[in-house]
Amino acid sequence: MEINTNKIGQGMTNDLEQTLKQSIRTINDYPKPGIQFRDISTLFGDARAFRRSVDELVHPYAGAGIDQVAGIEARGFILGGAMAHQLSAGFVPIRKKGKLPHETVRIAYSLEYGVDEMEMHKDAVSEGEKIVLVDDLIATGGTAEAAVKLLQQMGANVVAACFVIDLPALGGRKKIENLGVPVRTLIEYEGD
Ligand code: AMP
Repeated sequence: MEINTNKIGQGMTNDLEQTLKQSIRTINDYPKPGIQFRDISTLFGDARAFRRSVDELVHPYAGAGIDQVAGIEARGFILGGAMAHQLSAGFVPIRKKGKLPHETVRIAYSLEYGVDEMEMHKDAVSEGEKIVLVDDLIATGGTAEAAVKLLQQMGANVVAACFVIDLPALGGRKKIENLGVPVRTLIEYEGD
């Protein structure tokens, strides 16, 4: 089955965009000067916006035989748990290093300053399993790129990576597409 991860139709986009953007709070100069932090906790607190986000994120994958949704700590857990429930799929947590109790596989990735590591349980995915990856926002794409690589190293078939928010100026989408993984996002903000 071909999965269409293209952006949603224009009329729908406007309505959805309005609902989602109205529910997201922007905090200037957090966590440091010059950053506009897109605070999605207010979207999670808005029942309609939360529900619509999850509905739109899962829409292309309903009936596609997704085995598991993988969520990136921490906001990806909230979206991913709801998506997994809706898709009758399992859930895989991808966490910052040192948080998972069993044997893990780990990958280093670049942050704006320095590097960090993320990990998942070694037995969390099986060869060939169809996985949808989710996080709240894609900026430079470094975080999601590392998560895709980790899943692919374990033999997973990463069917798509999806995000509520895209910051297209930072070019993250291309990084993920270069790994052969289609990207689905619901709204965009200009700038970084
Ligand atoms: P990146 O690796 O650059 O794509 O950054 C994505 C990760 O950092 C996601 O987990 C986001 O939640 C977080 N992030 C990056 N930039 C922002 C921003 N402007 N507002 C909120 N979260 C952000």
